[in-house]
Amino acid sequence: MADVISLLPDHVANQIAAGEVVQRPASVVKELLENAIDAGATSITLLIKDAGKTLVQVTDNGCGMSTTDARLSFERHATSKIKVAEDLFNLHTKGFRGEALASIAAIAHVELKTKQDVSEIGTHICIEGSQVTSQEAAVVPTGTTISVKNLFYNIPARRNFLKSDPVETRHIIDEFHRVALAHPQIAFSMVHNGTSVFNLPVSNLRQRIVNIFGNKTNEKLVPVDEETEILKINGFVIKPDFAKKGKGEQFFFVNNRFIKSPYLNHAVSSAFEGLLKDGSKPGYFLMLEVDPKSIDINIHPTKTEIKFDDEHALYALLRATVKHSLGQFSIAPVLDFNR
Ligand code: ADP
Ligand code: MG
Repeated sequence: MADVISLLPDHVANQIAAGEVVQRPASVVKELLENAIDAGATSITLLIKDAGKTLVQVTDNGCGMSTTDARLSFERHATSKIKVAEDLFNLHTKGFRGEALASIAAIAHVELKTKQDVSEIGTHICIEGSQVTSQEAAVVPTGTTISVKNLFYNIPARRNFLKSDPVETRHIIDEFHRVALAHPQIAFSMVHNGTSVFNLPVSNLRQRIVNIFGNKTNEKLVPVDEETEILKINGFVIKPDFAKKGKGEQFFFVNNRFIKSPYLNHAVSSAFEGLLKDGSKPGYFLMLEVDPKSIDINIHPTKTEIKFDDEHALYALLRATVKHSLGQFSIAPVLDFNR
């Protein structure tokens, strides 16, 4: 009998992994922004061309990489963020899979420029289809710039599947909003085809919301604040009178990570019960903090879904807290610009 199984070469494995991690330019934006945050950046710039189809570039002033790490960062399962299995249940970083850069480098032309503070000279690496095409020393500022060009250049089916520029840009802006809202203490800017789209200075959550969604948003916000043993909640809900038909601004962040949760959304919606006009949905920007040990983020490659140990308790707490905040506001509107 003939043996038929062989191990796939790395670049093929990377392409397969890329299918899960990278669906569209916005996925690249998310991964690169998260890496910049994990690197401790205080200022991050996103530059895109043609809705990210031609270029997605992220520049940060974070810790940068050594020459060896710069090269290693494109290997699969290469990460500085976890070392042992237990770390998976105590995550303090956005990344941990060590898959993003390897995946992206398998399906795009990637250029990396990086330098650590302690080094005089940085590193400049070019990669195409998982192959390093050049590596040299370079004079660059401390931090990292990663440019991802011609996404899906070697997967025509994927490239053809991409939507129109306005639709792909919308997805990118959605990712940008999520990351920028989760980190008001970091300055973000975004440039599309040479035009500035966002320029967000360091601020607090209220100010960040206003900077993104406009000055009129300020008066619509009702603060939410609660701290219990298992959960810390803060942020804002939108006053019921201003709730939008269809989906308005709905943001949950758990330990500074944007997540989608129909279950928690239901908790908030039920707190709004009786206050909303027909067909309108509650708006909210809610930051939840829980013990990292009590959640599992490792259930989906894009990490937008997570599992909580005690869902029911969270539901009840969230509902009660939002209800309380809405009740307080209807008695005396709270206008506090300093939080
Ligand atoms: P992960 O984020 O899951 O570790 P990635 O493939 O996104 O995997 O990145 C691999 C590694 O490359 C990271 O663990 C980090 O050490 C390094 N890295 C990536 N982006 C940056 C950056 N902007 N600044 C500094 N180091 C980075
Ligand atoms: Mg990463």
